[in-house]
Amino acid sequence: MPIKRKPLTSSRPTIPLWRDRLSYFESRLGPLVETIREFVEIESPSDNKLAADRMGTVLAAKFEALGGRACVHRAEDYGDNIQIDFPGRDKLKPVLLLGHFDTVYPLGTLAAMPSHLSHGHLHGPGVLDMKSGIALMMYAIEALQKWHGALPRPVTVFLVSDEEVGSYSSRQTTESLARESTAVFVLEPAAGLRGAVKTARKGVGAYTVTVKGIAAHAGLDPGKGHSAILELSRQIVTISKWSDLKRGLSVNPGVIRGGTRTNVVAAEAAVEVDVRIKTANQAKGLDRKFHSLKPADKHCKISVEGGINRLPMERKDGVVALYKKAHAIARQVDWQLDEAAVGGGSDGNFTAGIGIPTLDGMGGVGEGAHAVHEYIVVSELPRRALLLAGMIESA
Ligand SMILES: [Zn+2]
Repeated sequence: MPIKRKPLTSSRPTIPLWRDRLSYFESRLGPLVETIREFVEIESPSDNKLAADRMGTVLAAKFEALGGRACVHRAEDYGDNIQIDFPGRDKLKPVLLLGHFDTVYPLGTLAAMPSHLSHGHLHGPGVLDMKSGIALMMYAIEALQKWHGALPRPVTVFLVSDEEVGSYSSRQTTESLARESTAVFVLEPAAGLRGAVKTARKGVGAYTVTVKGIAAHAGLDPGKGHSAILELSRQIVTISKWSDLKRGLSVNPGVIRGGTRTNVVAAEAAVEVDVRIKTANQAKGLDRKFHSLKPADKHCKISVEGGINRLPMERKDGVVALYKKAHAIARQVDWQLDEAAVGGGSDGNFTAGIGIPTLDGMGGVGEGAHAVHEYIVVSELPRRALLLAGMIESA
């Protein structure tokens, strides 16, 4: 019986193999690093519209130069948000590449924290979180165009200006673009120096609890006052007990203020509380607890503001399927790609929260996000680009 042999040539011989793709990105490393540096050197704090818009304009032009069509979503209080649509050869739903170009660093930080390369690390404000992630999008798109002659599928890039301050101007657009997409890849930093992708994120919220008491002269009328500070202290003890670390729920009264002078019984005091939740169900229970706080001193009044801003990104089937694909792509170049669950939220919480398969932490690898030593590991960049290109192709 004749043995059937597999044909020796692949049906798509022009598309490079994974190893060759990695070599391709290694050969593009110099320009990629330069692009990241260029982005880092344009300061773009969330709270400075003028500066953020400058960054947005540069990014729109860069992506348009790759053949995308930019659409600017005007925002009043923050920088404009930038959407870039790339057509694809096949009529598939697009994938959404999500990123933010705002940083937590005030204007002028660059002078004290200049972008520089040392021992294979590129330093600078926002280099990890997440200007390197935006540059990775560009280089992955460019590579796919080169390998396939055109992007194999439509790609939507959405770059927001207010992620670090809650994404209030961009959330609606993020969610509506996600609904039109087959998958979302978030180019936030990878988890840890092993570069794990993020398959679960905690939900994040913030509450402010304000107590109004009755002021009185602490010396002349001490019995007549009802101290807001004393009452708030009792409430803080209660709130703190809601933490349940085993279930992934934490409550942190992080800022308190109140009172005016030592010789006055305080009329007002308030606490700001950060909350983290692991499941969407925990949001309701916690909200109910905040709104049912009762004063022990009946002469004091309690008011509560705030809520959960980002629901958790839960590790559901769609997320796991994306991780498995990513893992298989990484294996092609002998890379053991891990997954991680993290406490911080991102815009990936929004897209996963409405049920769109989302893989987060696809961006740069490094340390020190939001800190003076923020850096990325340059040698990790080629395989991050390879992973993103592979995921755009196969999602
Ligand atoms: Zn970020």
